[in-house]
Amino acid sequence: MSKIFIGVGHGGGDPGAVGNGLKEKDVNLSIALHLRDELKRHGVTVGISRTADEDDPTSEEVKECNAFAPDYAVDIHTNAGGGNGFEVYHTLSGGKGKTLAQNIEAEVAGIGQKSRGLKTRANSAGKDYFGFIRQTKCPAVILECAFIDSADAQKINTEEKRKAFAVAYAKGILKTLGISYAAAAQDDTVQAVKRRYDLAEETMAYLCAYSYADALLERLAAVHVSGKGASAEELVRTRFQFAEETMNYLKAYTYGTELLDRLATS
Ligand SMILES: [Zn+2]
Repeated sequence: MSKIFIGVGHGGGDPGAVGNGLKEKDVNLSIALHLRDELKRHGVTVGISRTADEDDPTSEEVKECNAFAPDYAVDIHTNAGGGNGFEVYHTLSGGKGKTLAQNIEAEVAGIGQKSRGLKTRANSAGKDYFGFIRQTKCPAVILECAFIDSADAQKINTEEKRKAFAVAYAKGILKTLGISYAAAAQDDTVQAVKRRYDLAEETMAYLCAYSYADALLERLAAVHVSGKGASAEELVRTRFQFAEETMNYLKAYTYGTELLDRLATS
């Protein structure tokens, strides 16, 4: 199982760069959460340094990352200082970190963001300048999606646009891991299941969060249920041929009884 660690730059009392009504800490978190979801959707085990607006210094990120021991780590940032375009930093020694940087850069170009190129930066001792690259034990890169303090900010000022960066990052990471990117084709299935059983968004989110969500949704989409006499639970179990684990997951839902009723009677 592949493991990726996502560092989410800044947070809490440290807003990072600001400009055009945006704070870097918020932009970074938005991209990072979408990236986490995309990677998890592909079966990657993800560690993330924060999932809310809270203090999260680089030293903590490095500690968490090394404890998590991922295959690769990415640190999500947003640039400032006037300019435009994407930048990615990798280690001075190149190797796997540079390959990851190249793969991500290629995907970012694919969403129309100009690249300022792959970068390295040395400190006075000739070592990698950035702690996230120098102190993490795995290959690590720092991703700077765009400039927050120039017109470039228009590329990151909506959730949709930030998600586009996250998808590009995910594609580059997955390519590096040797995992092929699956377009969110599952969305069609999700919508079909939602309509067929008339389920709420919240219920769909619960189903999609299941470890074997793809298989679960495929079955719900493909099988037509009809039957009388048995309990809703029995009907669902036999008609969909769900494993015990899946039944337990469905029953554990806050509105599990209603969910099973709908699956049984639709
Ligand atoms: Zn930053």
